[in-house]
Parts: sequence; C-alpha cells; structure tokens
Amino acid sequence: MTEKQQTRTTRTNGLERSLAFERLLLELSASLVQCQPEELDGEINRALGRLGHFLGADRACLYRLSTAGAGPVGSLACTHAWQAADSGPEADGNEDPMDLHSCPKLLQEFCLGNGIQVTELEALADTKRQELERRGIHSMLLAPVSRSNQRAGFIVLGSGRGAIDWPEEALTGLRVLARICLSALDGQEMATTLNRLAFHDPLTDLPNRKLLHDRLSRALARNRRAGRRLVVLLLDIDDFKLANDNLGHAGGDRLLYKIASRLREVTEDCDTVARLGGDEFVIVLENARTGQAEAMARAILQRLSDPMEINGQTMVIHPSIGISDSMGDELQPEQLLQNADVAMYAAKAAGKNRFEFFDSTMAEGTDRDLSLRYQLSEAIENNELSILFQPRVTLATRTIAGAEALIRWKHPTRGLLQPDDFVGFAERSELICALDHWVLHQAAEQAAEWFQSNPDFVLSVNLSARELHETYRMDQLIQAIHESGIPVDRLELELTENLLMKNVGQASENLDALKKAVPGLRFAIDDFGSGYSSLNYLRQLPIDTLKMDQVFTRDLGRKNPRGRAIVRAIIELGHALELAVVAEGVRTGKQAMSLQELGCEQGQGYFFSSPVSQTELTAMIASENIEKRTISRL
Ligand code: C2E
Ligand code: MG
Ligand code: MG
Repeated sequence: MTEKQQTRTTRTNGLERSLAFERLLLELSASLVQCQPEELDGEINRALGRLGHFLGADRACLYRLSTAGAGPVGSLACTHAWQAADSGPEADGNEDPMDLHSCPKLLQEFCLGNGIQVTELEALADTKRQELERRGIHSMLLAPVSRSNQRAGFIVLGSGRGAIDWPEEALTGLRVLARICLSALDGQEMATTLNRLAFHDPLTDLPNRKLLHDRLSRALARNRRAGRRLVVLLLDIDDFKLANDNLGHAGGDRLLYKIASRLREVTEDCDTVARLGGDEFVIVLENARTGQAEAMARAILQRLSDPMEINGQTMVIHPSIGISDSMGDELQPEQLLQNADVAMYAAKAAGKNRFEFFDSTMAEGTDRDLSLRYQLSEAIENNELSILFQPRVTLATRTIAGAEALIRWKHPTRGLLQPDDFVGFAERSELICALDHWVLHQAAEQAAEWFQSNPDFVLSVNLSARELHETYRMDQLIQAIHESGIPVDRLELELTENLLMKNVGQASENLDALKKAVPGLRFAIDDFGSGYSSLNYLRQLPIDTLKMDQVFTRDLGRKNPRGRAIVRAIIELGHALELAVVAEGVRTGKQAMSLQELGCEQGQGYFFSSPVSQTELTAMIASENIEKRTISRL
C-alpha cells in the first residue's frame, strides 16, 4: 500500500470511528432520555460502560456536584460508575473506581477549565501526576458540565492499562452525554420531589391526609385479616390561634415543625405520624396492644407540655386528643378519623389538654352539636353565660324561701339559648362539670346579699349526676363548693333522677362522702316521678328534698281526681321519708292552693315568678312582691 493509500485508509478509519462514536452517543442519549425514572440509574451505568469500552478506557464515572456542600467544589459525589472486568475489583455502580475526591489540583483544574485530557502522565506537572499515579490512572478524559455558570458535574474516563490517545471528538461527546445524564437525574429528582410533595406536608415533611388515608386503608385491610386492633389518635393544639397570633406566621410554622419533631420522638418508627392540616395531627398505631393508646396519649401530653423556645419566646402548648379504634367494626379510614375527631372535640369540651376515647354516645350529637359543644367550652371565657334565679316560695306564708339558679347562654350568633339547647350535650361530655362549677361560683356570689337579709334563704343549684358517678370528680366538687364561699348549709344541690339512677350504688356512696366532707350540705331529687318508677332508691340516697315534676302539678286544679291522688301520694311519700316536698311548675293560684291543702311545703313556677335576674329577684324580695301577686291572683 502506498503512503497516499495508507493516509486515506487511516482517514477513512478515523471517519468511520467518528461516525460510530456519534451513533453510539445518539443511541445512548436516546435511551437515557426515553427510560423510566426507575430505570435511569441502570441506564447511566450502562452508558458509562459502553462509552468507556468504545474509547478504550477501563473505568468511567459520573460525578455530581451539589452547591450545598462546603469547599471549592461544594460536595462532589460519584453517583454512577463502570469498571472493566479485567481492571481490578469490579465497581458495582456505587463504588468509585477513580476516587477523585482527594485530587485537589485536578479538581481545581476541573473548576476552571473546559475539560481535562491526559494522554500520558509524563505530560503532567508533578503534583497532578502523583495524584493520578496514586490511583493507578495513566490516561484520563474529564468532561465537565456547567449550569447557570456553575459547575454541575462531569463524566470522567480513565485507563490504568497505558496511554490512550483520546480522539478529538471524545471530549465534546462526553460533555453532551454528561449533560444528558445530569438533566435526566435532575428530572428524576424533580419527579421524586413532586411525588413527595403530593403525599407529604411540606412544612413538617410528615405524611399528608392523602398518604394517611392510603396507609390507613392498607393497614385496616391487613388488620382485619389478622384480627388485630388499629388505633387512631387525632390531636389538635389548644388555642393554637393565640400562639400563631403571638408568634407571627413564620413563628407559628416553626412551632408546628417542633410539634411534629416531638411527635416523632414519642412514637416508634412503625407508627404513622401525619399532619392533617392546620394544627391537626394524627398518629396511627397498627396492631396496638391493650393500654398502648392511653400510654401514647399520656406521653404526647407530657412531651408537648415541655416549654419550647420560639423566636426568643418560651411557649407552652397543649393538645386535645381524640382516640378511636377499629376493633369489632368494619370501619373505613374516614369513619375512623371522624370518630377520633368527635372524641377530640369531647376532650376540648371537657376542658382541653386531655384525651378522650370515642364512644358511640358521642356520635349521637349532630355536627351542629359538635361545633356548639366546642363553642360552649369557650363560652365561659367569653362571658357568654349568665344565670337567672327562680324563687322557691313557702306556700303557707307565700314568702320567698330560696331560689334556683338556672343557666342561660347568650350565643354570639344564635341569640339567647335555654338549658335544653345545650345542657344535654354538655352532659354527654365532662364539660358539664366545668359548667356546673361556674354556676355554683357565680350563683353563690350573686346570692350573698340574700343570705344576709334572710337567715333561712336556700340557694338551689343543679348538678349533673355525672359528677357523682366519677369518684375523682368529688374532690373537685368539694373544692368548688368551698371556693364559692357559700354558707354550705344554705346550699341545696339538685340532682335529676334519670342521671342519678344510672348507678345508684355509686351515687349513694359519693353523696354520703360529700355529706361527710361538707356537713350541712343538702340534696334534692329534681323532676321527681318523671323518670324511674322504682322508689327503692329513695331509701338508699341521703336526700333532703323531693322536687315533684311539673307534670303532676299540671293535673291539679283540673277536674282529675286521679291526678290529685297521685300528688297526694307523692307528698305523703316524701313526708314519710322525712323529706321536704317542693312542687315544680306551679302556674295557677288554684294549683298553689291545692298543693298547700295537700301539705306541700313549697312551690316554684310561673305563677309566682318566671326565672329573673339577680336585680329583679332582689327587688322582689325587698317588696315582698310574691305575696302581693299571689293575693291579687287568688
Ligand atoms: P329544672 O332544674 O327542673 O328547672 C326548672 C325548669 O322549669 C326551668 O327551666 C324553669 O324555667 C322551668 N319552669 C319554671 N317554672 C315553670 C312553670 O311554671 N312551667 C313550666 N313549663 N316550666 C317552668 P330551664 O331554666 O329551661 O331549665 C331546664 C332544665 O335545665 C332545668 O330543669 C335543669 O335540669 C337544667 N339546668 C338549668 N340550669 C342548669 C345548670 O346550671 N346546671 C345543670 N346541670 N342543669 C341545669
Ligand atoms: Mg332543678
Ligand atoms: Mg326540675
């Protein structure tokens, strides 16, 4: 072959090689761009291998640079790698066969230049040569990629076998491929981030409602098959709005972040902690042991009550927690969360900073009830509650013997509410106790001058029997009585028989204890005869007064001899048990007369007076109004 022919052949070969290289680049680029995100890592490793192989290298790496790191090149990481089988221990795509991290001179050049092309080490300055020699690299090609004038990473090929005369187009080709790899990785990261954002709360990084729902569905299905218990704790931060107003928006966010961290601390890795939104969080205990939910609720109350520093302010926050569980029911996630929500509102209504287990009676209330219950818990602080007094009149003398305190709620949007509108649902939660104690305190204060002007004046206050069924409430009641400052022998607590009868034994034990702790305190059975027909309990309970229900009074004065006979029987029964008898709902003079004839001591009702304010009752007592009205009507 002539020299001319030889040159042509070499040129043709070079051209063919260039074309083949271009084809390879096109092929690799296409597969990198088209692959699924989960296939990308494998695809990059494969591309590095084919590239290295084509160019005669025995190792190839993709390095990425994150500007977040410290140092001249931020944080540099070899994210993908290939190593020829015959060039030492095989790299599996995670190991770094080049180990360029500790090559400061080279990296400096990488930061400044367009690329590094080393055919043989002899051409290099001492320090750089030594850096490569130490890694067994004799030849190297490094193609950097920049984005927005910042280095983003590079692909580097190396050979430990000897010098490689890198083709002219190799550096450009490598740079193209590096750019494609880095863009694809960015895209993959973006997809991961978007995916995370769709299922996680960006502020706390906790699972959001969507993911919680998903996890709950799966866990419920698993548990149903295995017959295990799943528990949901839903917590809402008490008065978060105040904290938020105090701290400002950014401070409020920090507070939520800290709350999330504390919840993670008290839970185990297998528990789900999610943020529903706002200041509501949910914890799911899959396969919960007996007592675990309560222990968890206590741990949360305890941990969250530790003071927190936010923006230089010390904050103490508390949650209200509702707990529901899946045992025995085919519940869907939404129902489970709704039950926990109902229980959480019950905890709020019962005074906040506590937990309540869901029970089906809580669900009897409508949504309107729920929000009312919550509003009622705020009503005391907002000064929306007030008391009216209805006089109790001694029938023989027609003088005021005492008065019953009756609560009213001036609702901000619904106007004046009567006890029937809210006492019922307050009674289904512990809120009723707070309410009754408030009434006791207020009524005692307002009645002070009546005690002074009339040494026999008795104040009646309604008390939910719920307090009597729970022994630990008794101490609080005793304290409330003492704190009210009322002369205790002038206080009569009215208990409705319906509630009292739920557990007569317990109630009677507690009433005895109460009488012992507060000597002179009186008890009345309210609405007597309206509920339970069994009279047996009358013997068991240490009561002083029977308040006959108004249905019996209503029959008096009508031509109804049986009605009169029943009233007579009730009054006689009361007297036989040495109880005072008060007739409720006296609406006419005739009824008042009949009751007096039958030996009933006192009456209460619209005939004498409807419930009135403190000022009105004071005026009534002073002007002996009752007597005048009674006489004029008779
Ligand atoms: P109660 O203790 O039997 O109180 C008497 C109720 O009968 C009062 O209704 C009173 O306004 C009404 N009343 C009085 N005279 C007449 C009358 O001549 N005819 C008729 N038809 N009604 C009359 P109010 O104030 O609506 O209270 C209803 C119930 O709510 C009370 O019945 C009591 O059980 C409960 N309640 C009221 N205040 C409180 C409270 O502070 N705590 C608790 N736990 N319950 C309360
Ligand atoms: Mg009453
Ligand atoms: Mg009554």
